[in-house]
Amino acid sequence: MEPVLDRSEELLKEIYALVDRPIRLMLACGNQNRTLLKNYVRAKLPASLELVAGPGCSVCVMPAGHIDAFVKVASQPGVITAVCEDLLQVRGSKESLASICEKGARVELINTPQEALDIARHEPDSTVVYVAAGFEATAPNVAETILYAAESGLENFCVIPSIRLLPPTIGRLMENETLHIEGLLCSDNNNVVSDTDAYSNLARKYNLPCCIAGFTLEDVLEGLLFLVRQVKAGTAEVSDDSAFSWSPRETNAALCIVSEVFCAVETDWRGLGTIARSGFVIRDELALFDATRRFNVHFTEGHENSKCRCNEIISGRSIPTDCPFFGMGCTPESPVGPCMISDEGICHSYFKYELQSP
Ligand code: SF4
Repeated sequence: MEPVLDRSEELLKEIYALVDRPIRLMLACGNQNRTLLKNYVRAKLPASLELVAGPGCSVCVMPAGHIDAFVKVASQPGVITAVCEDLLQVRGSKESLASICEKGARVELINTPQEALDIARHEPDSTVVYVAAGFEATAPNVAETILYAAESGLENFCVIPSIRLLPPTIGRLMENETLHIEGLLCSDNNNVVSDTDAYSNLARKYNLPCCIAGFTLEDVLEGLLFLVRQVKAGTAEVSDDSAFSWSPRETNAALCIVSEVFCAVETDWRGLGTIARSGFVIRDELALFDATRRFNVHFTEGHENSKCRCNEIISGRSIPTDCPFFGMGCTPESPVGPCMISDEGICHSYFKYELQSP
């Protein structure tokens, strides 16, 4: 009698049966990469199916110049900076938010923008600056907090926006033919503001099959199977398997609130340069809630740590084990670059799971 296979094993078997030549796919999302590594599945995939990471970890793509701006604002007297934990240790040109915290700056760790509003309500004599770092899915929530602060006259609250849109950056990467990326897997985290149309455009323009999927092992393997099938058939369709699909009404409401607060502008990405319409700034009408204007701070180019190869890794040009510092001077306890700092960072996941692989 044939042994009963669970769904993941079935999917692996199907992928194996199809991959009969080298195929290179990009897994843009840090969480999806972590799912594969955590389940020790990467090693079970066909050797000729090459998986590279992409620019889908918001901390990893944060350029030093943006960290410098956060540090500059956080160093102002009377400022409380509210930030997610992942960003705390990431160094800009010289300092990180953690290092200026040791010198007396007040930095509070939060999980949601609403927590930053709460701090502002309880600390009326301080200015609370929320560091809004993330991808487009976070934009509606951040926009809501800004509108709430404006409507309720909470003028000691402002936001330093560093929100990124993934599709324009994937487009930039696809212009580089030497990468030979044949398919793109990305997460539904990014699929609120940049809807399926954005990926359909990428698919058409670059003959790039795209799959928007969730974070479970089965979601990721289903996505890989879809992409391998597309590559084998020479087609470039988009599959949206998002578990968080919004209704057209919800999507419209989210888009309305985002466009009321933000406009899309060119933005810097770590190692990828400046990319048109890949980030947001706060509209003039809400300038009071824009920390960059309130403190006259500009995002500059900054200086990246020249030892670190995160630039190459988030653009699919290297994998963590290509870096001479991986596990040898760069570990989660003593990280050199953002890909080792963030839980979503591919170096972090490789270190935590690939090195322990049974
Ligand atoms: Fe940067 Fe460390 Fe990753 Fe090397 S191992 S690329 S130094 S984060």
